[in-house]
Amino acid sequence: MMKFAPEPFKIKMVEKMGTLNKEERKAAIKAAGYNTFLLKSEECFIDLLTDSGTNAMSDHQWAGLMLGDEAYGGSRNFYHLEETVRELFGFKYVVPTHQGRGAENILSSLTIKPGDYVPGNMYFTTTRFHQERNGATFRDVIIDEAHDPTAILDFKGNVDLAKFQALIDEVGAEHIPYICLAVTVNLAGGQPVSIANIKAVSELAHKHGIKVMFDATRCVENAYFIKTREPGYQDKTIKEIIHEMFSYGDGCTMSGKKDCLTNIGGFLCMNDEDLYTRACGMVVQFEGMPSYGGMAGRDMEAMAIGLREAMDYEYISHRVNQIRYLGEKLDAAGVPMVKPYGGHAIFVDARAFLDHLDQATDFPAQALSAALYEISGVRTMERGIISAGRDNVTGEDHVPKLETIRLTIPRRVYTYAHLDYVADAVIELYKKRHDISGLRWVYEPKALRFFTGRFEPRNEELIKGY
Ligand SMILES: *Cc1c(COP(=O)(O)O)cnc(C)c1O
Repeated sequence: MMKFAPEPFKIKMVEKMGTLNKEERKAAIKAAGYNTFLLKSEECFIDLLTDSGTNAMSDHQWAGLMLGDEAYGGSRNFYHLEETVRELFGFKYVVPTHQGRGAENILSSLTIKPGDYVPGNMYFTTTRFHQERNGATFRDVIIDEAHDPTAILDFKGNVDLAKFQALIDEVGAEHIPYICLAVTVNLAGGQPVSIANIKAVSELAHKHGIKVMFDATRCVENAYFIKTREPGYQDKTIKEIIHEMFSYGDGCTMSGKKDCLTNIGGFLCMNDEDLYTRACGMVVQFEGMPSYGGMAGRDMEAMAIGLREAMDYEYISHRVNQIRYLGEKLDAAGVPMVKPYGGHAIFVDARAFLDHLDQATDFPAQALSAALYEISGVRTMERGIISAGRDNVTGEDHVPKLETIRLTIPRRVYTYAHLDYVADAVIELYKKRHDISGLRWVYEPKALRFFTGRFEPRNEELIKGY
């Protein structure tokens, strides 16, 4: 057996990548204010900014686009999607939305009262935003090890049941409408949750009348880790594992831009008929008819087909192995990273990489992300002090423990040869790491500053002598 099996797909259509030379890249990152979000797509060679909506669709999905039924009401593509989600996830009701945050908006608005608490296994940006917007306080109940980049655990996304119990004791179950259980946990590095933990969370929650709502966005990646790591699941299919995972819950929110293998879309699921009725009432106000929810018929068709394709073991095994492949190459060269490698990305530890820079004044992850682009054309994302923003009340910077750049692998887009190039670029930069300058603000936006903020190097050049 090969350690890394080749891509389980062949290429039928190609898209040319940006091929700027060194001087052009230096000019491009300067013009973008040393912020990779502000680069043009055409200026990037390999684009690892995100795996959201960047999936490559299959020939079957592209064929499905031609079957789009764009009727305002009752599109047949919706019924196909509904039937697929019911079969694979096992929930009774499906409400389509334009993307994941549309589903989060509806769920949070309909279930949260001001003063409530919503526990979760680490926060996700848009998920927490909608909980707080509706008056809830988010409480992180993930195990402590999830916050430690060096802790090696099979299921580093698990809920700490004692933390969950303590919250119930503190505020009362009547103030906890649901627990949001993310599978896998994006911001912890794509770390999975075990079936044993899901079951235990479900028992504790249901004993107190608290609902279990999954953030199902990355559920296929989670199922892969269960199959390969949790005793008793080796012989089960991805489909069976997903069905079992969700059998312990009451519903989910889903972003179609990730594990559904499409470029846009999302949905909300539930078993509660009353909640479904109210969700349909709200979806017409914010998304569209309950038979399209902001999506074109063709997009719903592609999503129904993509979700079924994602159940294929060869597909998901290749995806997660690509992450591990990149991780192992970097590890062999001593590059510091968050471990174990998760389901969608490698997180390079920028604080350790640029140990001559200060997190609070030099913004090492922002500088590292810009420098990697400058030497290679590889685009990544800062996930550190810039992304964390300022405290609303004190105006001080949030200072996160994790100061990282995220190398996120889009689904079915790049090959192992592309990852070799990425690894070589990071390793070359690691050798030059002490030549990299810190950055300072030129323009700091008030909200979500990482998207449009602009910087300049503290020294004359971003990479000395390059
Ligand atoms: C992307 C994402 C979301 C939000 O979904 P959108 O489709 O971008 O609105 C929610 N949760 C997780 C874990 C995600 O990765």
